Amino acid sequence: MVIKPKIFSINKKLICAVSTRAGGVSPEPFGMNLSYQVGDRDENVTKNRELFFNRLGIPLSSVAIPGQIHSDHIQYISEAGEYPDCDAVVTNKNNLFLIVTVADCIPIFLYDSKTQAYAAIHAGWRGTEKRILKKGIEMMRSTFSTEINDLFAYLGPSARKCCYQVGEEVADKFNKKYLIHSEGMNPKLDLITMNYDMLIDSGIDKNKIEISEQCTICNPSLFHSYRRDKDLSGRMMAVIGIRS
Ligand SMILES: [Zn+2]
Repeated sequence: MVIKPKIFSINKKLICAVSTRAGGVSPEPFGMNLSYQVGDRDENVTKNRELFFNRLGIPLSSVAIPGQIHSDHIQYISEAGEYPDCDAVVTNKNNLFLIVTVADCIPIFLYDSKTQAYAAIHAGWRGTEKRILKKGIEMMRSTFSTEINDLFAYLGPSARKCCYQVGEEVADKFNKKYLIHSEGMNPKLDLITMNYDMLIDSGIDKNKIEISEQCTICNPSLFHSYRRDKDLSGRMMAVIGIRS
């Protein structure tokens, strides 16, 4: 089972999808796990990746995977492979499929309908605090001369304000308007609204933004959640690319 945003449907050749926990060959607790780094068996992960990418018609040899180090590093890329030192990749090459690996962090995709450039961004609390989304938009503007009116954005399933409690030391780094306080509990952090505000502040039309309604933490049948399952959590992958 995969989730497909609707916002990019203006381009029939654009493929964008997010995997779920459902449909994989790994035994519980991993299910449809797409990461080799969580204690799942390698051969099961390989099979799961084949299932996910085959379903979308994407050759495994054409995916680009950022290493995701909770930074604000964004890299322009023109070929498939692994990019260890960044949390976002941008390209304008067809048949190159950009990946974000997640289990609570937000997978964010940008698409420029005029230049056909696109970006995949990994944003947890660190990336959001460093405003990686804003920097991704700026990089598209400087690299591809992207105009804001041509940009479409998708924010995928992630840990939401219903569940995402943080310690005071993390809460202190954020504007109070993104924190929800309740008696006797750690504050909850609303990263989606903060990233949405970055899109709006950049001038993107709100009708060109799609936000998944799904919280990874309180949907255990559908999503992996590191916050919920700790070391027994698998990872989803989210992907964007344009087939020529
Ligand atoms: Zn929730």
